[in-house]
Amino acid sequence: MGQNRSLMTTQVLIAGGGIGGLAAGLACSRAGCQVRLYERAEAFGEVGAGIQMGPNVVRLLQGWGLDAALRAVAAYPERLQVRHALSGAELGVLRLGQTTVQRYGAPYATIHRADLHQLLLAALQQRERVQLRLRHTLETFESGAEAVRLRFADGLEVEGDALLGADGLWSRVRSQLLNDGPPRVAGHLAYRAMLPQASLPAALRSQQVTAWLGPRLHVVQYPVRGGAWLNVVAIVHGHVHGGLEDWDHSANTADLQAALAHTCGALRALIEAVPDWRLWVLCDRPPLTSADQMARGRVALLGDAAHPMRPYLAQGAGMAIEDAAELGRQLAQADGVLDVPTLLQRYALNRWQRNARVQARSIRNGEIFHLQGPLAWGRDAALRLLGERLLDVPWLYQGP
Ligand SMILES: Cc1cc2nc3c(=O)[nH]c(=O)nc-3n(C[C@H](O)[C@H](O)[C@H](O)COP(=O)(O)OP(=O)(O)OC[C@H]3O[C@@H](n4cnc5c(N)ncnc54)[C@H](O)[C@@H]3O)c2cc1C
Repeated sequence: MGQNRSLMTTQVLIAGGGIGGLAAGLACSRAGCQVRLYERAEAFGEVGAGIQMGPNVVRLLQGWGLDAALRAVAAYPERLQVRHALSGAELGVLRLGQTTVQRYGAPYATIHRADLHQLLLAALQQRERVQLRLRHTLETFESGAEAVRLRFADGLEVEGDALLGADGLWSRVRSQLLNDGPPRVAGHLAYRAMLPQASLPAALRSQQVTAWLGPRLHVVQYPVRGGAWLNVVAIVHGHVHGGLEDWDHSANTADLQAALAHTCGALRALIEAVPDWRLWVLCDRPPLTSADQMARGRVALLGDAAHPMRPYLAQGAGMAIEDAAELGRQLAQADGVLDVPTLLQRYALNRWQRNARVQARSIRNGEIFHLQGPLAWGRDAALRLLGERLLDVPWLYQGP
């Protein structure tokens, strides 16, 4: 079967239809592969929250012909401003807009998750030789010399050349492939809200990215839906019991207001103007240490299944999309000379260090954002002095 397979179109099986799985499906389909994607949910969708996308990510979406679809739903903030959560003072500014386009060849965008998910889904649905299956929960797989075989909760069995595990933080594919235990709890809670700007007093409406830094907390706000809506995320230290796998706890607004009671009037006014918050318990894994953690045999991991990270560099979905693009680049070469396990190994070799660097930098950013006392004073002085030089991330935004 192996020889025959190599002469046929490569059959790619994907577990998970989040942003990573859809992006991988699109990249592999564009690379000439036949794609079958299996999602356990009843319907394709995403939670109501925002995503920031650096130029490294927007450039890839543009390359897939999605620029017009993106422009129809995203916002393109002109600047990112860092403010002190206690005093409200400006600490630094990173120019975005045209400055980002000139530096990196693509803009910095902010978007509703559901809009990004929907535009990837629409692009995938237009492609031939793509099958999208809902209500299919992957249970186990067997990766052999000739093929990989998947078994689903309803008893269905399917076979293909490669399995891409895009099944998120609590990945079934990862637990079978690596058997390395569950993700760790970061000890941080993310309160999130999204609301029409028109529902806010004029002084609280905003078309820029604002990051408020304070002791053991930070808040990020930015526009989505072409600027018509505002996304707000407040991160505080804390724990909730149970329900770790649930991204969508209802939140106690009084708890959040108490955690931010000592912040400046402008920030408190924003927090108090939001009627309804949802809660995420943040989990991650330590940064990857080898390519072997991203691919073995005919199975590769991508996105949160491979490298779940804290959201403090705003690149988790971005790295999933970069993974997807690299999978497409590699699997385009499945021409019988290079076999699928070799191509997946090359994918992992090309991706693991960048993902590890982003994971590590995300952890460090969180520590810096939440500094207290003299260390916070040092951070603020450095931001005031160096501003853009500290806030820009050329190695990241230039792309892999
Ligand atoms: C507070 C917060 C803010 C963030 N902000 C940003 C940001 O600004 N920019 C950014 O780039 N990233 C951000 N991220 C990170 C980003 O949300 C994730 O990295 C990204 O959504 C991961 O996508 P994924 O497709 O890998 O996983 P998921 O979105 O988790 O998708 C996994 C999919 O697999 C399905 N599934 C699971 N198990 C199975 C199974 N056994 N069989 C079949 N299907 C299965 C699930 O139903 C789901 O649809 C943020 C994260 C948080 C928590």
